[in-house]
Amino acid sequence: MATQITSHVTATLIAYLHTCPRKLWLHAHEIRMEHTSDIVAEGKLIGETSYGRRADKYVQVEFDGVKIDFYDPRARTVHETKRGRAVESAHRAQVQYYLYKLRQQGVADASGVIEYPDLRRSEPVPPLTEADVETIAGWEREVARIVALEQCPPVVHKPICKQCSYYDLCYIGEEN
Ligand code: SF4
Repeated sequence: MATQITSHVTATLIAYLHTCPRKLWLHAHEIRMEHTSDIVAEGKLIGETSYGRRADKYVQVEFDGVKIDFYDPRARTVHETKRGRAVESAHRAQVQYYLYKLRQQGVADASGVIEYPDLRRSEPVPPLTEADVETIAGWEREVARIVALEQCPPVVHKPICKQCSYYDLCYIGEEN
């Protein structure tokens, strides 16, 4: 049963695996609240404005359920932009998943760069090692396991909840 669900694993679910299993489950079950979140909207805006003048260099690549917005085919580099002042493991995991999927398409030496405009810095993501590939295959299995749960995992009660688009859903009635 797990292998069937694994085919629906996306980079977003991989990122949520590194953020909150409840968020992963809600998103995978088509319970979406992103449109209500200013944080998400601002994140999209940064992506658009930061790359506005450089868009010629990049192509959008979409295959096997993965959509990479900014891929430099000559340098074989994935570019990802993140807002905010935190460098999160989820960001790196998302880009590593892109590299993993590119590798499955025969592009084994692709690398990534995560740009943080608010911090004025960028983080390189090196090409995957064999150990990375094994680790990421494990992430896929874990995503499939969580998605297959019959019940939504519990609220995690972490600081990230305050910036999460599911905050209202998770904390309804908490003050009462
Ligand atoms: S509000 Fe917190 S518990 Fe709820 S989905 Fe978001 S991160 Fe997870």
